[in-house]
Amino acid sequence: MSRARDDDPLLSLRDVSVHFHKERLFGLAGSETVHAVDDVSLDVYENDVVALVGESGCGKTTLGKTAIGIQRPTDGSVLYRGQDIWETKAKSGLFGGRGDDEHSAKEIRRSLQMIHQDPGSSLNANYTIESILSAPLERWQPEMTEADRRARIYGLLDYVGMTPAKDFAGRYPHQLSGGEQQRVALIRALLMNPDLILADEAISALDVSLRAEMMDLMLELQEQFDTSFLFISHNLANAKHLTQRAGGRIGIMYLGELVEIGTPEQIIHDPQHPYTKVLLWATSDLRNRTGDIETPPVRSLDIPEPTDPPSGCRFHTRCLDARTVCTRDCPSLEDHDGDGRRTACFRGEANHEYWDSEPLADDADAAEGSAVEID
Ligand code: SF4
Repeated sequence: MSRARDDDPLLSLRDVSVHFHKERLFGLAGSETVHAVDDVSLDVYENDVVALVGESGCGKTTLGKTAIGIQRPTDGSVLYRGQDIWETKAKSGLFGGRGDDEHSAKEIRRSLQMIHQDPGSSLNANYTIESILSAPLERWQPEMTEADRRARIYGLLDYVGMTPAKDFAGRYPHQLSGGEQQRVALIRALLMNPDLILADEAISALDVSLRAEMMDLMLELQEQFDTSFLFISHNLANAKHLTQRAGGRIGIMYLGELVEIGTPEQIIHDPQHPYTKVLLWATSDLRNRTGDIETPPVRSLDIPEPTDPPSGCRFHTRCLDARTVCTRDCPSLEDHDGDGRRTACFRGEANHEYWDSEPLADDADAAEGSAVEID
């Protein structure tokens, strides 16, 4: 179960933005700025499970990589146990050690691990599973004997159902199924004894029948290893499965911004942000919660370019509830009801000028069909 939120966070993102420069297409001079992530603040606690959900290109992977120190933020800071990751890295580069810091750059790197969507490409094809799994133990626990390493690896292979372990340990990655490769990737990350694992679409490539099994395994191991998970997914049903069992939270991202975050009960049963309702509609396993609506609840199917995000609330070009003020002002992520859920929408504020503002005229390109389907 997730730990109480009044503990100090394990990881804190403070007003984090990540912008990329991209050359213009068709030989046009100059570059444009991609607003991959804008002004996101998020705390992750020990033994926590947070799922970030949104359409492809919404910035969730970039945010995940920023959280574990792989991607440098353009603005804002990322803190590991209160210590700035990038300042620590800079000092370590200069002085080769931890200086006055409590945690060294090396320790932070070990503490924040990642498993990818395609485990096949992250497991070295030239090494056996035993060699692949021995490497983190040799590096981080050099005092361990070869016999102890083998016992630990076989024990974990057994635990995740890869038996007989000796047989699987001697195989090469290409001799495993996708589900078995992902289990090996998970074991390899856990052998680093991490505080947090970023699981980036880690179950998307698996057969549907294996996804729930893999998520349950992740949660079992999470409890055993005292690890937190930052789970990136485009599928709200998977995010619900994982966070509901773990007492975690679901964060919804749209065009680089976090627009709603709360418990799975709040997000799935009582969504407040209009975009969360769109995602629910677009998730076939959860659609009945939005009633019998034939068309997606959006004004337009067009997703704006992250190089040119709309003014005001970024969702206003697609939001059925948009009013004039939404085109001008940007809502901040607030806990409107004092129940821990935070939403970035003026509709959460009873006295906001939104309520006196004119509704936007109907969009000629109002949504038709089901092009919003994402799962
Ligand atoms: Fe829609 Fe306005 Fe709320 Fe944005 S602030 S989600 S445009 S109602």
